[in-house]
Amino acid sequence: PKSHQGRVAFVTGAASGIGKAIASRLAAEGACVVVADLDLEKAQAVAAELGNTDVAIGVAANVADPAAVQAAIDATLLAFGGIDLVVNNAGLSLSKPLLETTEADWDLQHDVMAKGSFLVSKAAAKALIEQSMGGDIVYISSKNSVFAGPSNIAYSATKADQAHQVRLLAVELGEHGIRVNGVNPDGVVRGSGIFASGWGANRAATYGVPEDKLGEFYAQRTILRREVVPENVADAVYVLTGPELSRTTGLHVPVDSGVAAA
Ligand code: NAD
Repeated sequence: PKSHQGRVAFVTGAASGIGKAIASRLAAEGACVVVADLDLEKAQAVAAELGNTDVAIGVAANVADPAAVQAAIDATLLAFGGIDLVVNNAGLSLSKPLLETTEADWDLQHDVMAKGSFLVSKAAAKALIEQSMGGDIVYISSKNSVFAGPSNIAYSATKADQAHQVRLLAVELGEHGIRVNGVNPDGVVRGSGIFASGWGANRAATYGVPEDKLGEFYAQRTILRREVVPENVADAVYVLTGPELSRTTGLHVPVDSGVAAA
């Protein structure tokens, strides 16, 4: 059997970029997948690419809204009879220097990532604990949760918050056999909507490189000299939630071609 056969995965922000690659990888490994995102139509379109509604469904869920999160978890339980694996991936990056960062910027970054992942983990953990069959929660945090980059105080601070949620929940949920791990990507340009949504132009301006050369720029400053693509992050989620790492919890895996190690 495939490694994730019979498991139900709930992936936030899965209508685009890294989340879409994760949903697709977990479906390929046999999981039933719930594609949760802001936009129902986009979420349903991605789910339809993965298979029929027996294996994948799309749900609308603003992760910053507790009622919407609960409704999405309820829809998951209704569609697939349970939940086994949760990926907190939804996010966005405003990337501004301190003096340009408004209170609204700060609140939006923290609402979607720190609060959003807290709400999703809480609603999912309740279901996981009730099922008593263990489970997995994975946070897509960032290299920026540990290392300071230029002009992104609100983003990096909320990524650091997510990274600490990983450690705290690994401790708290461990007795229920629930593993909580994180992935720290960096430099995912190709296939990621963050760049399409303005982050690309922002980073290009910050580093003084043309936007279409950002992928190469990021690759060249890594120790492997290899560009990181959404599928590389999906590979890490697959390994962290698979049977081989059954005794690993509270870990953060860098997927950055070595930037954080250098
Ligand atoms: P993306 O823009 O392609 O995808 C993000 C998805 O999240 C979108 O589909 C968007 O609609 C969704 N989303 C945004 N706000 C939401 C909300 N309130 N509720 C539900 N869904 C919401 O970006 P990506 O690059 O694939 O990023 C995915 C995650 O990876 C983010 O958490 C990001 O911070 C993290 N990350 C990305 C990189 C990178 O280099 N691209 C590096 C480190 C970490």
